[in-house]
Amino acid sequence: MHYVSTRGEAPRLGPSEIILAGLASDGGLYMPESWPQITTSQMSDFAGLSYAELTAEILAPYFDPDISLAELKDISVDVYGGFNHPQVAPLRKFEEGMWLLELFHGPTLAFKDFALQLLARLMERLAGKLDRPLLLIGATSGDTGAAAVHAFQNMDNIQLHMLHPEGRISELQRKQMTTIKAANIRNYAIRGSFDDCQAMVKRLLLDSDLAKRASLSTVNSINWGRIAAQIPYYFYASLKVGDKGLPPAFAVPSGNFGNCFSAFAASKMGLSVQNFIVGVNDNDGLRRAFEDGQVRNDETLATLSPAMDIQHSSNFERLLLEFSGRSAEKVRAQMNELSMSGGYELDEDWLRRARERFHVTRISEDSILQEIKHVYEASGILIDPHTAVGTAAARLWKEEGGQAPVVCLATAHPAKFPETIEKAIGTPPEIPHTLAGLSELKEFVTHLDASHEGLKNNILQGLET
Ligand SMILES: *Cc1c(COP(=O)(O)O)cnc(C)c1O
Repeated sequence: MHYVSTRGEAPRLGPSEIILAGLASDGGLYMPESWPQITTSQMSDFAGLSYAELTAEILAPYFDPDISLAELKDISVDVYGGFNHPQVAPLRKFEEGMWLLELFHGPTLAFKDFALQLLARLMERLAGKLDRPLLLIGATSGDTGAAAVHAFQNMDNIQLHMLHPEGRISELQRKQMTTIKAANIRNYAIRGSFDDCQAMVKRLLLDSDLAKRASLSTVNSINWGRIAAQIPYYFYASLKVGDKGLPPAFAVPSGNFGNCFSAFAASKMGLSVQNFIVGVNDNDGLRRAFEDGQVRNDETLATLSPAMDIQHSSNFERLLLEFSGRSAEKVRAQMNELSMSGGYELDEDWLRRARERFHVTRISEDSILQEIKHVYEASGILIDPHTAVGTAAARLWKEEGGQAPVVCLATAHPAKFPETIEKAIGTPPEIPHTLAGLSELKEFVTHLDASHEGLKNNILQGLET
């Protein structure tokens, strides 16, 4: 497999190279040059596989020829064997025609573990062959940080620098990442928004001084490895749901559009998907883009679903390329316009193609609370505020006449957001033992302004010690 940049001016690279690069050198995102195809007969062969075996089969073409199917299987069996549910990603019916795909049985109780646990193992293998340290820089709106810190702690020859917007992630989310004491991990609380953090990461990844000292990459879904590792659970859910033989719709609560892009990638590989139902919170830049064709840089608001408090979804750039007939030139022009004048327009052709597949809905703060309460009262199941954005969007889609079994992605364990759960149903959730006791632990974190130079100096100092 070869990969190309969304902006068309970076070298075409192989699988290991793009994992180690993260961002393309032209500032674009790497995309597979073509979509590997899963045939119907392969699909029926996959029906009996475990989650880990299925993952290896789906990912093999993306890593060919650098990592073999057998190696992928070893890593995947090891990684997903450590999840605390035998099915890894269990599917649970919660209402007529609606299922939850529970993606919170990994070590940090959010879906980010699926990709980061696997990516860490792949990067460890690749970093072992480098003659200098692998420096990973990432931004988190809540769950990526914890998942990354847990996955990469104490790995040789890898340093992880994790940025989060100060005061904008939940206390539990913060403590899950800042209380891990490992020499190769640094946490930074940045005085700014997640979008500021993500912009800082992109700039650092292209910094030539840093590049002289270390090999630079990222754990964000800018990195194709993240997107790839989230594709298998869409196949897994489709194989399990089998409702009247109709292809499912997927309801995905979206922030950086990574999880959603993985669903889209699964469909490009041949998986039948009725529709992609995208739920966003009050940070609804994505919805406005689909509605009026205008993309703008907007302020980010703090909401009950903090992991989705993102106005500029980085993976939207991948969708730009895909629905523009793969015109990197067009994407490059749009990205230039965004940085020069703070916005750009989507053309009619692009919008028509995108609207055919994606149905984007904004879910207000009140509706999030009502949805948690409704699902709890109707089924006895507690869902987290991010998952609620997806199930509420799915409910609206059905009310508007949408017909398909709907698989709603349950992206985090409700116990990660006890205050919101209590607000919604009147009682706090039971706290699992992995989260209990965090409040007593010491936090390791550096507070910084949203300044490129300040952070860069900190990282350079870290390389010296
Ligand atoms: C990261 C996250 C999301 C958003 O996923 P994207 O891939 O960024 O769109 C939704 N829910 C939870 C719980 C998350 O951690």
